Amino acid sequence: MHVETDAGALSGRSAIVTVSAGVLAAQSIQFDPPLPPDTRSGIAGIGMGALTKIGLGFGGERFGLPANSNLWETLGSGASFNFECFPFDRDVVVAYIGGDYARGVVALGEQGALALALERFAGMAGAGARKAFTGGRLHAWSADPYAMGCYSHALPGQAGARASLAKPVAEKLFFAGEATAAGDDGSFGAAMTAGGAFLAGEAAARAAAA
Ligand SMILES: Cc1cc2nc3c(=O)[nH]c(=O)nc-3n(C[C@H](O)[C@H](O)[C@H](O)COP(=O)(O)OP(=O)(O)OC[C@H]3O[C@@H](n4cnc5c(N)ncnc54)[C@H](O)[C@@H]3O)c2cc1C
Repeated sequence: MHVETDAGALSGRSAIVTVSAGVLAAQSIQFDPPLPPDTRSGIAGIGMGALTKIGLGFGGERFGLPANSNLWETLGSGASFNFECFPFDRDVVVAYIGGDYARGVVALGEQGALALALERFAGMAGAGARKAFTGGRLHAWSADPYAMGCYSHALPGQAGARASLAKPVAEKLFFAGEATAAGDDGSFGAAMTAGGAFLAGEAAARAAAA
């Protein structure tokens, strides 16, 4: 196997590719010869969901909300804000938004997303939230070129996609990560988790070393 990267070239007996299914689908990595049909259909059969976090900082004000409490606002079909308030007793509130609504908020850019999240939070916690706001950050994995999404999911009619992607190519090219995280029973029940990604990587490393 020969791998070319911006930082130089590598050669080895086998390779384990651990980028997300979203990055594979975006063809950020080129394979030569092209991947076999099974692997390609596995990649095509997996979508990536969107979950976005917006962190809001507040200067010591708690608005009567206890640490580790939650506020939830439903704005309409598929649109909601879940505010995780003061986790670990820190002066922050983390807004969670998901799906197409999250993709739309991400398109507003960081300042737009922060303004919207603060507006929704102040609507529930009170206008004092605006005064106490010290700044925030948006992290949008769905727009991050190194993630291209948040959680893999098999597309409708593509229940076999994870197994297709998990199949080694010529016993020397392995795909490992949350998308291929099989449980002990081979059901891919560990998919979408960091633990599953670790186990899939470990299993691929064992297979590569065998
Ligand atoms: C908001 C959010 C909350 C989550 N909460 C939880 C949780 O509570 N518990 C849980 O278990 N899981 C959670 N997850 C899921 C968990 O983060 C993922 O399942 C896990 O990170 C997947 O690991 P991975 O190694 O498969 O992929 P990644 O974590 O995506 O790792 C892939 C790596 O490849 C790198 N990469 C990408 N493209 C290239 C390239 N072209 N060249 C070189 N390197 C590249 C990336 O930079 C990255 O380091 C959450 C995910 C999100 C988005």
